[in-house]
Amino acid sequence: MSKFEMNYLGVMADMAGCPNRCRHCWLGTHKNGHMSIDDFRYIAAQFKEWRNEDGCGIDKFSFFSWWREPDFRNDYRELWRLEQELSSPGYAERFELLSTWRLARDESYAKWAAALPPKTCQITFFGMEGNTGWGMRRKGAFRDQLTATERCHEVGITPRWQLFLTKRCLSELNEFLQLIRDYNITEFFGGISPEGDGYDLESERPELSDIEKIPSELIAFSRNGISMLGQTEKDLLRELYDNDEPLNINPSVPSLAVNADFDVYPNIAEPTEWWKLGNLKTDGIDVIMNAYINETTPGMTMNRTIPVSELVQRYGNPESRKLYTKSDLISRFMHQWGEDYLKKNQKVIPET
Ligand code: SF4
Repeated sequence: MSKFEMNYLGVMADMAGCPNRCRHCWLGTHKNGHMSIDDFRYIAAQFKEWRNEDGCGIDKFSFFSWWREPDFRNDYRELWRLEQELSSPGYAERFELLSTWRLARDESYAKWAAALPPKTCQITFFGMEGNTGWGMRRKGAFRDQLTATERCHEVGITPRWQLFLTKRCLSELNEFLQLIRDYNITEFFGGISPEGDGYDLESERPELSDIEKIPSELIAFSRNGISMLGQTEKDLLRELYDNDEPLNINPSVPSLAVNADFDVYPNIAEPTEWWKLGNLKTDGIDVIMNAYINETTPGMTMNRTIPVSELVQRYGNPESRKLYTKSDLISRFMHQWGEDYLKKNQKVIPET
């Protein structure tokens, strides 16, 4: 990345973390922290004041007070005001995400959120009550998601359900179909990326033979059908075998995440040790920006140098009938490469 492309950067500070510990979470299990408003201002100042060796800085910024669950902190209104103050004019942004935990607890929150764009909120399920509690690792999560759905409807926000389909919930899909009808929902399949905590869900990943267990009426409700589930690994590997180019993944928007310990990660893939740029407090902003711009972390080097065909040879399973999208299968290869890298370099890069 040249300095001329650094005219924008998004920076997400994980000020409070998340009430859930979802099993599919590609962000993994970073601890919930207690960053202060001064910490957030410090982070913003570090990036705003940074200059490269030619004295060039970054022109525009978006700063986010969250990285996982938005609006999880009780002072969420103040934090949104602060995001607007610290970001470049017009660059503070909200996404199709709200705190469903807060929607279920704070009656004034839905009305406040409805006054802001966008008017859609993503709500996660892993099936019915038992499986959703299991998937989000929180008792009561299923009821919260239903209450959040009702609160969204009440204020004109469209609840967009995402059903993360695992082998565990295949037997209750007719029951879930009824729930979709009851709550007037139109879109619902989500794909599980095998990175972060999601990597440990591989044994629950649906296979080709599981598709026939999905009621066709349920598929018809989904805007994209079952395309989120992808194809078998066996079929995808045929496409990838001959690709001798490196992955060369470029994020659509450059952005960095700062966790509660001030470790900084690029938004290319899961925030693990092999992608980490450095620590804002102990390494400093220059080390972090140099690593980002020159792509020096092990993960970033792999992204630019290792051919896809090599990853396929190492990690592909030509017998596998598990279903992946192409990008999810590649994410799995990157995760497997990263774990191997850590094992080989244990003395150089200790695990956190
Ligand atoms: S998937 Fe979202 S809600 Fe679930 S643990 Fe990760 S950040 Fe939190």
